[in-house]
Amino acid sequence: MGRLLPGEARAARLAGQAGVWAGQRGLVVRRRGGGLTAAPLALLPTPFPRGEFERAVGLAGPLNRLVDAVSRDGAYLRRVLRGARGHDEFTARLLGVYEAVRARKGEAMHARAVGVHRSDYMVDEPTGRLLQVELNTIASSFGALGTLVSDMHRQWAGRYPELGLDPAALPANGATGHIAAALACAHGAWGGEGALALVVVQPGELNEFDQQWIQETLWERHGIETARRTLAELDRELELAADDTLSLGGAPVAVVYFRAGYSPADYPTEAEWGARLTIEQSSAFKCPSIQYHLVGAKKVQQDLAQPGVLERFLDHDEAAALRTCFAGLWSLDDAEAPATRAALADAVANPGRYVLKPQREGGGNNLYKQEMAAKLRAGQGLGAYILMERINPAPHANYLVRDGELRRMDTLSEIGIYSTYVREGDRVLLDGPAGHVLRTKDAASDEGGVAAGFAVIDSPALY
Ligand code: ADP
Ligand code: MG
Repeated sequence: MGRLLPGEARAARLAGQAGVWAGQRGLVVRRRGGGLTAAPLALLPTPFPRGEFERAVGLAGPLNRLVDAVSRDGAYLRRVLRGARGHDEFTARLLGVYEAVRARKGEAMHARAVGVHRSDYMVDEPTGRLLQVELNTIASSFGALGTLVSDMHRQWAGRYPELGLDPAALPANGATGHIAAALACAHGAWGGEGALALVVVQPGELNEFDQQWIQETLWERHGIETARRTLAELDRELELAADDTLSLGGAPVAVVYFRAGYSPADYPTEAEWGARLTIEQSSAFKCPSIQYHLVGAKKVQQDLAQPGVLERFLDHDEAAALRTCFAGLWSLDDAEAPATRAALADAVANPGRYVLKPQREGGGNNLYKQEMAAKLRAGQGLGAYILMERINPAPHANYLVRDGELRRMDTLSEIGIYSTYVREGDRVLLDGPAGHVLRTKDAASDEGGVAAGFAVIDSPALY
């Protein structure tokens, strides 16, 4: 696989080198309690099969078109999310925003769309299949920090031949530029002189620099100024004109990029919901709109995997290509349905073969093993969950560096493929793959989020 793991002493020197790279390039995160530190990263790129990587990149376009088509089918979204709405207050609130926008704007709510998606996959070792973990339609993170880790690994491939890295095995990664270009494309389509791109952020965001790289690139390459605000601040500061123009401090807003708003914790009071509704009702491009946000629900992922559903939204070839990467997924809405009963019984008997997922984003929410089995046996509120086949990727030894500490371990990796999409009316202005990030975690950990502290940022070495 063309990669030689160095000994501890050499690895420690490389980790120092990675720290310098991180400082010089802004590959950094805020530390809880203050200050900056290098983003958690994998010292060396991790082997990943080239064919499966290319297959995942090839699915970017079909996924964009799927999200757009599903987002415009209100009857479908309502039906699929009906069970979750009854069991999960957050899903119910998001649907409430959707209904309020729908009531006021009707079909006009679909006039403009901008998507920055990240579809996450793992390659199941026993079967060799590329399987989708989830599709993120809101606040897909690590595009910029992932680009910087790719750049570092690529430099090392040329600079340190003793690592045995083939530069041709390290795919080009332009995620930062692609994400900024999508927001700039929407900004241009909106067409206002001096209009802002508004970035909606969480208070105290530790992953600020990943976002600031997008903002920096919007200015440097596109001359677009950005403003960062929390939902609470926006509730006080936003103005919505009679013609639905959104403005902040007197400047019109052309595009709103959400890096917050995906978790119940982002809405501690009614003020945050008020800001979300104001934004949704405006004429600005929303990345994502409430309907794009809803398409990313785990419940929708599960339903799309049912026989015949994809074909409603995509042509035959695209549906067939996408279906190859769907893992087993089960709804728990109707515990008496024969298929559900069979899956439940098998999951309780073989908990290691499944993952139980609530309607949440951001990592750290899933249930595994005995905790999952206990929840399934208790049987309460299962309509807000989906049951998923567990994917088992191949372990690879690597060194992970977190806040200056170097640890060698067996790791598992998950590839995220970004895709961007911009549509104005019936004109599709942008639609394609937009870079990648590999996230790598300790093989002993079930969960995988970088921000949640389980994983590090990595890049693939294709073989
Ligand atoms: P979230 O929206 O919280 O990111 P995910 O579906 O991405 O939810 O799950 C979080 C993490 O849990 C993933 O990054 C992955 O490491 C692990 N995971 C999720 N689904 C599976 C699965 N089917 N098999 C193995 N691991 C999984
Ligand atoms: Mg995830």
